[in-house]
Amino acid sequence: MLTCREFADFLRAYLEADLPGDQREAFDEHVRICPPCVNYLDTYKETVRLGRCICEDGDGPPPVDAPEDLIRAILAARGPQGPG
Ligand SMILES: [Zn+2]
Repeated sequence: MLTCREFADFLRAYLEADLPGDQREAFDEHVRICPPCVNYLDTYKETVRLGRCICEDGDGPPPVDAPEDLIRAILAARGPQGPG
């Protein structure tokens, strides 16, 4: 019987169809009896799918974050507002 921890360890190999037959059976059996791990499996698959989408869809602009250094530089350029 597979534990939830082992399940998580096997998850990646399972999705890459890299598990030997008997381990795969144990994995499938765990899915049948353990709803939390089914959720985990779904979440994992979704994450992998989204990750692939980002890689394959390379036309979009990269995400832009306002760098904190830039904000600091702008604030510094304004100068301190103390007495002259
Ligand atoms: Zn489980």
